[in-house]
Amino acid sequence: MLRLKNIHKKFNHLEVLKGISLEVTQGEVVAIIGPSGSGKSTLLRCLNRLEIIDQGTIEIEGEILATEDTEGKCQYVSEQKAREICFKMGMVFQQFNLFPHMTVIDNIIEAPMLVKGIKKELIIPEAEELLKKVGLFEKKNSYPSRLSGGQKQRVAIARALAMKPDIMLFDEPTSALDPELTGEVLKAMRQLALEHMTMIVVTHEMAFAREVAQRVIFMDNGDIVEEGTPEQIFNNPEQPRTQAFLKSML
Ligand code: ADP
Ligand code: MG
Repeated sequence: MLRLKNIHKKFNHLEVLKGISLEVTQGEVVAIIGPSGSGKSTLLRCLNRLEIIDQGTIEIEGEILATEDTEGKCQYVSEQKAREICFKMGMVFQQFNLFPHMTVIDNIIEAPMLVKGIKKELIIPEAEELLKKVGLFEKKNSYPSRLSGGQKQRVAIARALAMKPDIMLFDEPTSALDPELTGEVLKAMRQLALEHMTMIVVTHEMAFAREVAQRVIFMDNGDIVEEGTPEQIFNNPEQPRTQAFLKSML
């Protein structure tokens, strides 16, 4: 589903990703954990071209997004092709990024109409189904400012799903929420996992990672330090840095 090879990313002289390689198979839920500043968000952003990599290969569903030429320089495919490839991924951010001047339902139908050219009559029923799925059908005509953080984030999930992605990327989707609101968002994500959505989730919710992820990746300082099943990483971490991080999370 997704294959990353030797991804390098620098911001000026700061090397933020130092050769990340990762494969994700269809239907897999992968949790990425690690301290702040370790490059987790940058990695997700590189996947859907919000950041451009300096070196390495990104392959999504068998299609090359970026790869190295014979001189080792990174080359992206054409703009048109890159866009098509990236449509296969939906992303949910820590800060919900809803359009404040649009109602909930308009937030959801905007991209499918604008980007995919789907007719409004066709997309509305789908958007309503998605809202039912995240438990917010009755809020369809509300504006984001009238919603709680947890509700906003569930709308953001529905909005990403409206593009019918094959892969969902979550970047700390509950970190901006009051603790009592995280549960409803995690529930929606758990439901997606049960439906075998391929998911990459950057999270501090260790209980969620343990329960829902098939694989946990610990990143530190731009590298994947350790990866394994939740059982391995949480019960028997091998690397001292993983052990120290998990201790700090208690
Ligand atoms: P994490 O998500 O694990 O907290 P990030 O990927 O956000 O880590 O950041 C990794 C490092 O890259 C940090 O040192 C951060 O300050 C730096 N960084 C992130 N985005 C930018 C940017 N646009 N310009 C410069 N530095 C950045
Ligand atoms: Mg981050």
